[in-house]
Amino acid sequence: MLWLVLSALGCVLLAHSELTQLREAFETDARISHRLLSQRAVQHEAVLATLALLQPKAQPGDADAVEQRLSSVYPQILSVQRRDPGENWPSASLVDAENTSRQTRHAVLANLDFSAQRGRYQLVLAAQPSSFALLIDVYASVPWNDWSMPVQSSPVRVTLVQAGKAFVVQPGRVTGSGWRFEFHKHLASVSQPFDVVAVREVGWSELPWGLMAVWTSLMAAVLAGLSAWQRQRSARRRAEELLRVGQVARLNTLGELAAGMAHELNQPLTAILANTQAAKRLLQDDPDEMPAALQAMDQAVAQARRAAEVLARLRRTVEQPNVAEPSQVVDLAQVARNALDLLEPECKRRGVTVAIVAKHPAQVLAERVALEQIVHNLMTNALQALDLVAATERQLTIHIEVASGMGVLQVADTGPGIAPDTLPHVFEPFFTTREGGLGLGLSLCETLATGMGGQLRAHANAPRGAVFTLTLPTAHTP
Ligand code: ADP
Repeated sequence: MLWLVLSALGCVLLAHSELTQLREAFETDARISHRLLSQRAVQHEAVLATLALLQPKAQPGDADAVEQRLSSVYPQILSVQRRDPGENWPSASLVDAENTSRQTRHAVLANLDFSAQRGRYQLVLAAQPSSFALLIDVYASVPWNDWSMPVQSSPVRVTLVQAGKAFVVQPGRVTGSGWRFEFHKHLASVSQPFDVVAVREVGWSELPWGLMAVWTSLMAAVLAGLSAWQRQRSARRRAEELLRVGQVARLNTLGELAAGMAHELNQPLTAILANTQAAKRLLQDDPDEMPAALQAMDQAVAQARRAAEVLARLRRTVEQPNVAEPSQVVDLAQVARNALDLLEPECKRRGVTVAIVAKHPAQVLAERVALEQIVHNLMTNALQALDLVAATERQLTIHIEVASGMGVLQVADTGPGIAPDTLPHVFEPFFTTREGGLGLGLSLCETLATGMGGQLRAHANAPRGAVFTLTLPTAHTP
C-alpha cells in the first residue's frame, strides 16, 4: 500500500515536472516565433515607407529599377505596384485600401489569400504623388534561418490567423489528445493585423516513463529492504528476550531443584537419624562394643544432623530469597501480550489459534520477571499439550479479569487435558508425564505465585483441555 502511494506520488511529480519543462520550452519557442514574424511585418511597412519617401527625387526609370531590385533583397516581396497620378489601380480592392490608407496614414492590408499554397496578401500605402502596393508571400516572409524549431519535425503547430482565415506556418503534430498548451498573440504591426497562434500537444508517450519505472523499482527496493531490516530487528529482539527469559528460568529452576532436593532428602535423612538413634540404643545393651559403637553412632548422628541443617538452610534460602525483585504495578494483559509475542513463531509453526479475552483491565502488584516466567511457562505447557491433538483443534485462549478483588489470568488450551488422578500431583516437584520432562515448571510457577501473595490452580477446560488459573493481588492505584 505504502509502495503504491509513494510510487504514484513520485510518478505524478515526475510527470508534472516534465510537463512544466515542456510548457516552458514551448512558450519560449512561441515567443521567439512571434518576435521574428513581427519584425518581418515591420520590415514590410518600412519598405513601403521608404518607397513613398524616395519617389519625389526618383526619375520614372530609376523608380522602376529600385522596385525591381527589391525582390532580390526581400524574397518575400513578390512584386511592387505603383499608381502614378492620373492612373488607376487594377482592382477595386486596391482603390479601397489606398483610400483607407490615406485616412489612417499607415499601410493597409488588401487581397488576403490564404488559400494559395504559400499564402499571399498585398500591402498598400497611399503617398504623393504615387502610391505603392507590395505583393507579399507569407511563407517566404518567415525568417527560417533564425527560426528556433525544426519546421518539419517540431510538434508545435504555428498558424497566422486573420478574420477567421488561417495560414499554417509550421504543421506540428495535433491529434486532439493529451495535454494541450496554447499561445495567442497579435503581431506587433498595425498594418498586418495577424494573430500568431501556437499549439503544442503532449501525448502520453512523451511522459518520462523510464524515470517513473526507475522510481517505482527504487521505492520497491527501498521498502523491501526496510521491511527485511524490520523483520530482522524484531527477530533479534525476540531472540534476545527468549534468551533473557531462558536465563531467568534456568536460575529459578536451579533454585527449585534445590528446593526439590531439600524436600526429597529430608525424609531419608530423618530416617537415618531415627535408625542410628535406635542402633545406638541397641548397642547400649552390648557392653563389649559399647565405646566404639557409641563413638561411631555419635559421629553418624552428628553428620546426619549437619546434613539436615545444611539442607534446611538451603531450603530456607530458596524459599525466601533475600534479594527479591521489588513488586510493582503490572498490567496482566500487557504481560500476556508480551509472552504471546515471544511465542508467536511457535504458535504459527504449530497452527495454533490464539486469542486474548480481557474482560477488565487488570493491574496487579507483582514481580514483573517472576510473573513473566509463570505466564511463559503456562503457555509453553499449553503448546506442548496442543501438540498431542489434531492441528485443526489447537486453540490457546488467555482470559483476563478482576474477580473478588484479585487479578485473574487464565491460560486455557484445547489439548488432551489432565487426567483426574494426575491433577493433584501436577504442582509437585519432579512430577512429569512428558518424556524428557523435568517436572519442575509448575512447581516453580506455584512457588513464584505464592511468593507474590497469589495462587496457581489447575482444572479441566470445557469441553476439553486444561485451564491454569493464576490469581494475584490487584494494585490499589490511587
Ligand atoms: P514438565 O513440563 O517438565 O513435565 P511441568 O511441571 O511443567 O513439568 O508439568 C508437569 C505435568 O503437568 C506435565 O508433565 C503434564 O502432565 C501436566 N501438564 C502441565 N500442563 C498441562 C497442560 N496444559 N495440559 C495437560 N497437562 C499438563
